[in-house]
Amino acid sequence: MSPSIVTSNWFRVAFPLCLITSLWIGMSNVITVTQSNIDIAVNLPIVLFFFALILSHSFNQSRCAMIAFAMMLSYWVIQSRLQTSLSTGTSLLELSLLAFLLPVAALLTYAFKDSNLSSKSFVFYILINILFIAWSYLTVTHFGVESIALFQQGLLFVVPQVSHLPFVLVMYLVALTGITAILVLRNNRIADVVSYSAILTASATFIFFDIPYISSTMFSLAGLLLLIYLISASHELAFNDGLTGIPGRHALEMDLKQLGRKYSIAMLDVDHFKAFNDTYGHDTGDDVLKLVASRLALVGGKARVYRYGGEEFTAVFRGRYLEDVLEHLELVREDIAQYEMALRNVSTRPKDKKTGASKRGKASEAETVKITISIGVADSSSDRKPQNVIKLADKALYKAKQTGRNKVSH
Ligand code: GH3
Ligand code: MG
Ligand code: MG
Repeated sequence: MSPSIVTSNWFRVAFPLCLITSLWIGMSNVITVTQSNIDIAVNLPIVLFFFALILSHSFNQSRCAMIAFAMMLSYWVIQSRLQTSLSTGTSLLELSLLAFLLPVAALLTYAFKDSNLSSKSFVFYILINILFIAWSYLTVTHFGVESIALFQQGLLFVVPQVSHLPFVLVMYLVALTGITAILVLRNNRIADVVSYSAILTASATFIFFDIPYISSTMFSLAGLLLLIYLISASHELAFNDGLTGIPGRHALEMDLKQLGRKYSIAMLDVDHFKAFNDTYGHDTGDDVLKLVASRLALVGGKARVYRYGGEEFTAVFRGRYLEDVLEHLELVREDIAQYEMALRNVSTRPKDKKTGASKRGKASEAETVKITISIGVADSSSDRKPQNVIKLADKALYKAKQTGRNKVSH
């Protein structure tokens, strides 16, 4: 399971954009197909969002469910209120409110943590959406049809060459799409990708609202993308280690089946980690494991690093024997030994009173600690079976531990 291009940040930004562009180019065909299957086409987004809700629940991805719910609600508003010309009644004000609030609802998911759908946070999110609808209803009834012209002369002016949506909202949607795209490029988490694709497809709908069947087309696309990302999220859950975010044991076992003839495997183990936990507490130990994993992931030699379990990691170098990997392992060992890890204030206070006295210092000073790792490495020159190479690397690791730790042995 090598890191795949389809989960790369650039692909995740470009993929929905390409789909929208192809739909845009073939929109006349889309319209014909929609017209001849009108019942299916109009209900498709609802069906897709509904499936997304069910999957989100089973994968504990409540933030995806929140987006699915907000999109479903918006689609229902579009279908039940906005199937008339924008120049009649309060349609333009209603569309403007929707174009403003849907991205807000999508970004609001960042305020929550993922859990299942029976959590309080999911119910709270639904309540917020209902409040949005109530507020929009009051706004529309308060201002009424007569005030629309006034709005259009003021803040909500329209530039018909660009869109029938007020220009300020076009800029707002473009800006938010850009910001969420940057978040995908920087962080590339499922939550980022889901918000980005929802805001992108919704923006395309609102900006090009006069194109026939734009909402069913774009919202179907949004539903489809949500389902794809949910499957991708469940894949990440299965293959990545929950604490450190790097590939876990399952991913390692899959990859070991596809190694070529020539490779090296290194086993890396944090030194005296039990004592570290006893001194600083398990939570701080967890933070250190995350830091160690992020440093190890930078090891050169095109290695892939996995969390083997506990405070042990495995690095697999394809196409390289020992002599080509030792230098990279030495560098990463040294990097970790020299790295000053800042401890979070809450958990910096050592549990042990004696250690506490020597480590505490001034309350305002951020405390740093250093840790070391020992490494054992073996290659496939004498034995091509990955399980046997791992055993040899383990033996070498034992040797490193016996001969003083903080070293690479083979
Ligand atoms: P050595 O230098 O010989 O490797 O000593 P050690 O203390 O690192 O080795 P040992 O195997 O005795 O202890 C490993 C410790 O790692 C035990 C456990 O408390 C800790 N540990 C394992 N998994 C986790 C984890 O997920 N989080 C934290 N905080 N600690 C962990
Ligand atoms: Mg160990
Ligand atoms: Mg250890």
